[in-house]
Amino acid sequence: MDRTKFLLNEKEMPTAWYNIQADLPTPLAPYLHPGTKEPLGPADLAPLFPMELIMQEVSKERYIDVPGAVIDIYRSWRPTTLYRAHRLEKALQTPAKIFYKYEGSSPAGSHKPNTAVPQAYYNKKEGIKRLTTETGAGQWGSSMAFACSQFGIDLKVYMVKVSYQQKPYRRMMMETWGAQCVPSPSPDTESGRAALAEDPNNPGSLGLAISEAVEDAAPRADSHYALGSVLNHVLMHQTVIGLESLKQMEMAGEYPDVVIGCVGGGSNFGGMALPFVHQNLTAGKKTRIMAVEPSSCPSLTKGTFAFDYGDVAGMAPIAKMFTLGRKFMPPPVHAGGLRYHGMAPIVSHLYKSGLIEAKAVPQLPTFEAGIQFARTEGFISAPETNHAIRAAIDEAIKCRESGEKKVILFNHSGHGHFDMAAYDAYLSGKLADFEYPAEMVKEALKDLPQCILR
Ligand SMILES: *Cc1c(COP(=O)(O)O)cnc(C)c1O
Repeated sequence: MDRTKFLLNEKEMPTAWYNIQADLPTPLAPYLHPGTKEPLGPADLAPLFPMELIMQEVSKERYIDVPGAVIDIYRSWRPTTLYRAHRLEKALQTPAKIFYKYEGSSPAGSHKPNTAVPQAYYNKKEGIKRLTTETGAGQWGSSMAFACSQFGIDLKVYMVKVSYQQKPYRRMMMETWGAQCVPSPSPDTESGRAALAEDPNNPGSLGLAISEAVEDAAPRADSHYALGSVLNHVLMHQTVIGLESLKQMEMAGEYPDVVIGCVGGGSNFGGMALPFVHQNLTAGKKTRIMAVEPSSCPSLTKGTFAFDYGDVAGMAPIAKMFTLGRKFMPPPVHAGGLRYHGMAPIVSHLYKSGLIEAKAVPQLPTFEAGIQFARTEGFISAPETNHAIRAAIDEAIKCRESGEKKVILFNHSGHGHFDMAAYDAYLSGKLADFEYPAEMVKEALKDLPQCILR
């Protein structure tokens, strides 16, 4: 049988991230100030982010060096393994070849430490002693807690209250790494107190937790804020995934016809896809690049490409992106990490330009795919990851029908060891599909900011 595992040694790990802004046929729209609606300057972002990250956000340099201190930490789980899914292929009786890049082997169990570590590093370098952030299901909070522990930075995580109560193990991970984790809304901030005064049982939301974390960090000289997805520098840090995969596909003697990733804010998808978009743009490759989202939160396939706020309160910068409206509250799908009203500006721009495709899948078929994957390949995947697995399996089934021997590559964004309650709900028939909430989206889009730029 052909090989199953494609492993790089430490020395073959990428030493620079790939910045797609160098190669975009048309430039990204600027961020706008939430108050003035004028383009943002670096100084506007300085209360929240270190200058090196602000400069990366707008850089047009094609490659940006990974600092040595970051490489040293990456080394404890990178390069990650690229697998050929022989047993899944066999079960599907497909002539297609399926490859997946496994990011579940990081200390936090997902791709998120790829950006958490450099973010902690650049903040440390600028003398920052304390970071704040928000987390939904807890994957980003635990990744940031791990990264801060490596650099001796204090971390306060505002965790959406319903997840704080229902998913205690991610909180325990954060505390094990030394972070403080509070349920949001909390009594510690103005936004939190206002929400609690209105409804003491407010279950919280990602948008509200962002408002709390930003409000906490902005006025304090010792503190900055960290965001785990959406922003250009976050997607760029994640390109280690795609850069390694390019080398590993070469070891396998193959090149992908289709590259797939699940999208919440767009970071793991971007990390895998952008180096392959680069090949399409500059090396004559014609790989199809597919972003997969839940049909209950379909920002790319059903959203509007417009300037919108990054948070619910309208305090965060305005970005040009595919959005469902900042007040859109997705139905309670278990794929907590895919519940964001907007989409990364880079992913939005590529989709609008026709350089990538998008597909929405309902929840039940994603769990069906995750279980087929667990029973063949062995890994139990995060519910978010199951969206990518679903799309990869669908492509492989199409090949069975057409006889095409396509090469399919998907990013496996993380393991599902703390998501077993969702698997339990699926296996006991308690999980349901949610229709695309057309009325809710129409309502939420009424709140788009009025901007001169379009
Ligand atoms: C957070 C998360 C996602 C979604 O976030 P992106 O920024 O779109 O990558 C997907 N998979 C896993 C395992 C996650 O933790």
